[in-house]
Amino acid sequence: MQLKSYYESLTDGTLKFQFLTSDNYIIESCVVFFWEKSSPINICVSSQVGCECSCSFCVTGYKRFVRNLSSSEIEKQVALIFEHSPHLRQYQFEITYMGTGEPLLNKENVFSSARSFSNNYLLLTRINVSSIFPNINITPDDILTVDKPVHFQYSLHFVSDDLRLKYFRKRLVPISAVLNKLNQLHDIAGTSFCLNYILFDQINDQSQDAKALIELICGLPTYIKISKYCPISFSNLKTSSNFEKFTQVLDLGGVHWKAFESKGTDIHAACGHLLSDIQF
Ligand code: SF4
Repeated sequence: MQLKSYYESLTDGTLKFQFLTSDNYIIESCVVFFWEKSSPINICVSSQVGCECSCSFCVTGYKRFVRNLSSSEIEKQVALIFEHSPHLRQYQFEITYMGTGEPLLNKENVFSSARSFSNNYLLLTRINVSSIFPNINITPDDILTVDKPVHFQYSLHFVSDDLRLKYFRKRLVPISAVLNKLNQLHDIAGTSFCLNYILFDQINDQSQDAKALIELICGLPTYIKISKYCPISFSNLKTSSNFEKFTQVLDLGGVHWKAFESKGTDIHAACGHLLSDIQF
């Protein structure tokens, strides 16, 4: 695998790297900086060429699935990023499986690469696995064999299984079963988790949605990461203008939430925008 192209956002400094695999496919990784929160830098890696899922709000969901990436191809993304931009080596960083592909559909190679990252990078502080949960075949051993903390980001986005089926365009594990599983992994293996919730105009951004969300996570050791939708040309979904009202309801319900802002929109590095200018 080799580096093909490199982009730098003029608005927030986000970096995007395009790599060419040995069989001539393009995959992408990003480096995102959250200087304003003094957080570690975030290296977002891909786990598949294309994606087996077809989420309606994600560009990759409209591309065809080609294959899983091997563990060494996942590891190579980070190695090539540091080789190209050695100044990044001085920072603490997190690795996030949130590039193209659904990590839990390539679980063996994702966790194998996570073990390797944990063993090889002293400044790595955490591994994040972002998933829509097409399965819940994760064992405590998967987690306990990784030396760094593992954090799951559950891409929930809708509070009912029916709405999830409509917009993820794939039958997924029911919400209650995923939350049970994450809670179990938290108790047995010490994993932390949060729920990602993108606000879509008139679809999931009303007070009743916020109230349903409060009920869903009642008593769970988690928080909600709320983000605004960055529209893609393939979809009719729109950005919500109800952020303040929605989060006020969460505040009244005593729910812990954080705002998350997608970065690198000018270089197609924002969440759901990877591979925007690539055909396959
Ligand atoms: S959101 Fe994730 S799982 Fe869904 S199509 Fe995009 S890359 Fe695949």
